[in-house]
Amino acid sequence: MGLRGAAGAAALALAGGSGVAFATHIETDVKLDFKDVLIRPKRSTLRSRSEVELARTFHFKHSKQQLTCVPLMVANMDTVGTFEMAKCFGAHKCMVAIHKHYTVDEWAAFARDSPEALAYVAVSAGTSRADLDKVDAVLNACPDVRMICLDVANGYSEFFVHTVREVREKYPAHTIIAGNVVTNEMTEELILNGADMVKVGIGPGSVCTTRKQAGVGYPQLSATLECADAAHGLGGHVIADGGITCPGDAAKAFGAGADFIMCGGMFAGHDEAAGERIVRDGRAYKLFYGMSSSTAMSKHAGGVAEYRSSEGKTVEVPYKGPVAATILDLLGGLRSACTYVGASTLKEMRHRTTFVRVTQQLNPVFG
Ligand code: 5GP
Repeated sequence: MGLRGAAGAAALALAGGSGVAFATHIETDVKLDFKDVLIRPKRSTLRSRSEVELARTFHFKHSKQQLTCVPLMVANMDTVGTFEMAKCFGAHKCMVAIHKHYTVDEWAAFARDSPEALAYVAVSAGTSRADLDKVDAVLNACPDVRMICLDVANGYSEFFVHTVREVREKYPAHTIIAGNVVTNEMTEELILNGADMVKVGIGPGSVCTTRKQAGVGYPQLSATLECADAAHGLGGHVIADGGITCPGDAAKAFGAGADFIMCGGMFAGHDEAAGERIVRDGRAYKLFYGMSSSTAMSKHAGGVAEYRSSEGKTVEVPYKGPVAATILDLLGGLRSACTYVGASTLKEMRHRTTFVRVTQQLNPVFG
């Protein structure tokens, strides 16, 4: 990985040569986001994008499961983590973390109607007893679902670690995703307590306001680099979750070491996303909102509790038609990135990627 040297050198320069925190509580090492880098092209023997293999076979650390898929996952948000998405993504061997608000009966009907999609979905839960009981019921009703996504906004709590351990003990052969975190030590903690894959990202999401409301976060490219390094050292995997706005960002996430990417906003506005089309002044939209937005909390928790504030936006996304076109566009971009660095598989991306720090990404002439 070429970035570490470059970023390290830049950080040293900025930090006046020491590279060490000046004040007790300030890390002066520069952390980077997707917008801060580009991927340096490299000589390649590939003749065409069609030679690139995007599917990858995973062997998960704890579950010992083997899974072959294209490592792209739809976020477990109630707008996009839908059964309709799962049918379409499954057909492309891509994954969906199904949102946690479906009933067990709805799950059973989905399993009956779309058995071929079950290998490509995860059942999601937070840490509440009700959520975990529902996971039990869903896995009972749909034994072919083999992946559990334990998702909380703040993966740093001791209680969350206990939950991961409890679910691991109960489901030794299911693949467990746990998150979200953004640093190496917590990635290791979650893997050591039973997570096969750690979800990385605090604050980068398209409808996330955590950085504004709480001032907490970590630039997503650096978070991915650092957490992937920690996870891979233990035989675990990471999912870069949030902040991917275009296929180029996805390529950078894989180049930084992500095993999977998770996206929400990129798949909003499509037919397969939940909600009605809104037509105004001849233009069509679909509603998209964060799972910590007041829209989501009003829908699922009867409103925003007094002790907390909304940490998500509600937006109207222009209607985009069937999601298949967006999937193909994303996969096409990834194949292109692979050919530019000479990677014949997505897994090779991380070994072939050198990032260059940039001050400008795009030519702004036409907006
Ligand atoms: P996107 O692909 O839209 O940039 O990011 C999707 C990710 O944003 C989700 O997978 C999840 O981690 C995060 N997210 C979803 N809803 C919220 C929210 O209301 N608040 C925050 N802080 N993050 C959210």
